[in-house]
Amino acid sequence: MIQITDKSKCVGCNACTQCCSTNSIAMYEDEEGFLYPVVDIKTCTDCGLCEKVCPVINYKVGKKPNLVYAAKSHDEQIRMESSSGGVFTLLAEQIIKDGGIVFGARFNENWEVIHDYTETIEGLSAFRGSKYVQSRIGKTYSQAKQFLKAGRKVLFSGTPCQIAGLKLFLRKEYDKLLTVDFVCHGVPSPMIWIKYLSYLADNQSLAMWIENINFRSKTNGWKNYNFVLYPKNSEQKFVEPLHKNLFMKGFLSDLYLRPSCHRCPTKSLSSGSDITLGDFWGIQNVLPNFDDDKGVSLVMINSEKGKSAFNSIDVVRQETAYKSAVQYNPAIEISMKPSEKRSEFFRFLSNENLNSLILRLTHQTFAKRILRKIGRLIKRTMRVCLKK
Ligand SMILES: Cc1cc2nc3c(=O)[nH]c(=O)nc-3n(C[C@H](O)[C@H](O)[C@H](O)COP(=O)(O)OP(=O)(O)OC[C@H]3O[C@@H](n4cnc5c(N)ncnc54)[C@H](O)[C@@H]3O)c2cc1C
Ligand code: SF4
Ligand code: SF4
Ligand code: SF4
Repeated sequence: MIQITDKSKCVGCNACTQCCSTNSIAMYEDEEGFLYPVVDIKTCTDCGLCEKVCPVINYKVGKKPNLVYAAKSHDEQIRMESSSGGVFTLLAEQIIKDGGIVFGARFNENWEVIHDYTETIEGLSAFRGSKYVQSRIGKTYSQAKQFLKAGRKVLFSGTPCQIAGLKLFLRKEYDKLLTVDFVCHGVPSPMIWIKYLSYLADNQSLAMWIENINFRSKTNGWKNYNFVLYPKNSEQKFVEPLHKNLFMKGFLSDLYLRPSCHRCPTKSLSSGSDITLGDFWGIQNVLPNFDDDKGVSLVMINSEKGKSAFNSIDVVRQETAYKSAVQYNPAIEISMKPSEKRSEFFRFLSNENLNSLILRLTHQTFAKRILRKIGRLIKRTMRVCLKK
């Protein structure tokens, strides 16, 4: 049976909970706000199935994609609403047009991030755009299995570890299943997310106060995106550039990622997904004519099924080399190192207000900032010299 003694060895995918026929596993939130499974030994029959579906225990080796593309939707509005080039929406629309179901991550009424499904094109808008919080997968693997058994097409999108968990949970290949994951930096704690929103809302009810949230508004460009919160009953939206926004600062400084994200078991396209999407960072250097700062998707095709799904959509595309993608997007292969301040962050969380804690722990001295800038300048100069 599953027993979590090292938290970095559980991605929280819920595959074990959903597969247990005696309902002996429940997920409990720890003091950092992440869910972990706990087995009730009184009802557990020791059948061992939960270990067979765990993507950490059944870790697979990485591989290279079959094909790599830069791609962007023809539809400007979809692209503006999406984090990258809007490829997720195009793939999802095709599945819905074929009578299928799409699973993805959306906000619920309390602004928590959960996994859910839709059967309509309008329903896709809630899934559009990255939410930088671990989504609660709930019972969506079991729901997807029921749809597949009924002969429906299913597109399941999520983090690579969620896709790896789904594939192990299903325990067999389904022709009608298309799995789409993305390059994953890691997922922040849902508890910190809600604390952050409560701080902004000054303890008003989040459900009553918030109309919408966009982690990646492109009004200022795709590369320098803004965090935007739209309050209800007010024209005054809350807008902050990514490097100024407190929650994004803590996320990108790796202060509160799930412990497993620092030892991710599904790096290097090892999740078993058909397609892996990402931001095509560095596109201005790789394919300068393709870049208009409105968002370009990196599309990595991992299977024949992924290839035919991608070929079935009408999208602006340009094939490119894997090395040009990974050069600017190390998260494809490498887990982020935890911040040196991570444990201090969680230690001080109950005594210090979140705002000043994140600011204090992400504050860089002037000398450090100058050194980083010099480092970046040297790298850029070396790249230009190598090209010549
Ligand atoms: C936590 C997180 C970390 C990421 N890290 C990187 C990175 O380091 N490098 C990189 O290139 N790209 C990263 N991405 C992916 C990138 O931001 C885009 O989501 C991806 O390129 C797809 O963009 P799109 O324009 O095709 O569609 P979009 O409409 O932007 O993508 C939406 C898709 O993302 C899914 N999704 C959104 N939030 C979550 C969530 N919290 N959990 C599970 N699924 C979610 C939706 O279900 C939907 O399938 C990350 C995304 C997330 C959510
Ligand atoms: S060993 Fe079997 S019965 Fe026990 S928790 Fe795991 S799946 Fe459930
Ligand atoms: S990684 Fe998933 S399957 Fe494995 S123990 Fe954690 S929740 Fe269960
Ligand atoms: S970094 Fe790895 S473990 Fe963390 S959410 Fe992403 S895929 Fe899962």
